[in-house]
Parts: sequence; C-alpha cells; structure tokens
Amino acid sequence: MKIGFFGLGNMGGPMAANLAKAGHEVTGYDIAGTTAAGVTSVASAREAASGQDVVITMLPNGKILRDLYDEIVAYGAKGSLFVDCSTVDVESAQYAHAKAKTNSLASVDAPVSGGITGAAAGTLTFMAGGEDDAFQRAVPLFEIMGQKAVHCGAAGAGQSAKICNNMILGISMIGVCEAFSLADKLGLDRQKMFDVVSTSSGFCWSLNNYCPAPGVGPKSPADNDYKPGFAAELMLKDLMLSQAAADATNAATPLGAAATAFYQAFVEHGGRGKDFSAVLPRLSEMKRGDQP
Ligand code: NAD
Repeated sequence: MKIGFFGLGNMGGPMAANLAKAGHEVTGYDIAGTTAAGVTSVASAREAASGQDVVITMLPNGKILRDLYDEIVAYGAKGSLFVDCSTVDVESAQYAHAKAKTNSLASVDAPVSGGITGAAAGTLTFMAGGEDDAFQRAVPLFEIMGQKAVHCGAAGAGQSAKICNNMILGISMIGVCEAFSLADKLGLDRQKMFDVVSTSSGFCWSLNNYCPAPGVGPKSPADNDYKPGFAAELMLKDLMLSQAAADATNAATPLGAAATAFYQAFVEHGGRGKDFSAVLPRLSEMKRGDQP
C-alpha cells in the first residue's frame, strides 16, 4: 500500500518504520523535519497526503489534528482511508471524521496503548472508532504496528476508551506510590511489599509491570532514574482529557479529578520531564497534609 504518515515523533517514527519494514511504500511528513528508517520524507503536507491509499496521523493534540485535517483532507485520493492514532479529545476525533466525510474519505480514530517500546516492537494495542468497513481496512496495518485492535464503536469511541484507560492508569499509579510510601513509613521492606501485593488483590499494571520502586519488580523507568517512559506531562494531558470528557457528559469522577490535580501540581513543581512513576520519590519527601 501507499501510505502517507504525519508526525514522525517518539511514537510515529517507529510506527512508520515498521510499516516500511513490512514492505509498504511510506511517505513521511513532520514539521520538525524528523525522519524514520525506510520512510521517504517530503517537504510538504500536500505531497504526503496526495495519491495515498492510507493516510496516518500521530500528532501531539486535538488542535493540531483539526488544523491538519482542514488542510489535507482535500488532497486525499477518492475512497482512501484516513487513520488518526494520536490521543486527542473526543470532539476533535469526531471533527476529523466529519471533515474526512466531506471528501468521501473513510476514517478511523485509533489511539494506542503500549508506549514507545510497544511502538518500536510493533506490539501496540489499538482502540478504534468509526464505521466497520473503515476499521476492517485498517486492521492489516494495525497487525503490523500492534498486537491487538479493538473496534470500540462509532466515531470517537477509540478516544473514549483511551481516555478511560488512562484515567485508571493515573489513579492506580498514585495509589501504588502511596502504598509504597506508607509501607516505607511502616518499616516494611519494598521487595516484601511487592512480593505480597503483586500476587494479592492490590495487583495491577502500575505495580506488576511498571513498578515505581527502583530495583523492585521488572525493569521500569524507576531503574533508569525515572527518565520517561511515559512522561508526567503526557499523563497530565490524558487526565485533563478525561476531565473535559467528564464535564461534557456530566460524569462523576472524583478520583479522576484528584489525580488530575495531583499530576498538575507534580508537573508544575519539578515533575516535568520525569516519568509519571516519579510520584513515588515525591511522596517520600512529603509529610502528611503537604501538597504535591
Ligand atoms: P512527539 O511529540 O514525540 O511526536 C509528535 C510529532 O508530530 C513531532 O515530531 C512533531 O514535530 C510532529 N508534528 C506536529 N505538528 C505536525 C504537523 N502539523 N504535521 C506534521 N507533523 C507534526 O509525541 P509522541 O510521543 O510521538 O506522541 C504522539 C501522540 O501519541 C500523542 O497524541 C500522545 O499523547 C500519544 N501517545 C504517546 C505515547 C508515548 O508513550 N509517547 C503513548 C501512547 C500515546
């Protein structure tokens, strides 16, 4: 297939490279001039969008996605498929679908889980929204870039699933860090705490797969001085999307709101640029009643 790929950053770069490695003809465009292995870079959005079977976007936020779709949808070949893999607000995803429709393009919103290691290894999980035909056409590409794709529902449903998943992740990471911090104060050995909780009812991805305590559990950013990984400011971005969605739908998410406020303060007071699991050393410095 001929594929145009927009946004060759930490995620998009390896995703585009995997498509090229699998034999697709990939043309890439990134405003920062970034390139990816096996991908032909071009100097304009028009060149990257024109004459492709599929156009994939992997961009920082919803505003950039909307602006780019405003520009490139007109260049899309009749009947081609537009797939957006960025994490954005549900309204922006729906806007992109509607915009694609104005030029009779098929479209899918398909944000991912799995981070930069999953992008490089081709083991991402895709959560998709849009019409079934469009989803089915994207599946062979999801199979190259990932290991699982779930069709969650209509336009925007992929973003809804992503936002809910990451709200759980933010809350659970704070919970695990609070438990380690309390265990420290109780004089409990961190390894013993891991051995018990990882096989008890407190087990969860944040503890078992991404343990925030250095030297405990599988290798994680905690073992690399909390270099991301998944940066605290990206966690904050996703939590803020969850709260915007909760506002829009009048959903009660008190812990989601608390986790958002926590990461906001954490990012503003030294957490920016650190992995989102660096909440543990921050809590260790704090006393009861302190604000993060
Ligand atoms: P990134 O900042 O590394 O990459 C984004 C790229 O888009 C940059 O290279 C930027 O120059 C480019 N870009 C911006 N505007 C553009 C435009 N108009 N045209 C073409 N290129 C443009 O970010 P990332 O980590 O690759 O994340 C991309 C998306 O994936 C985000 O929405 C993020 O929330 C989501 N995501 C990231 C992770 C992660 O672990 N990094 C995990 C899951 C999802």
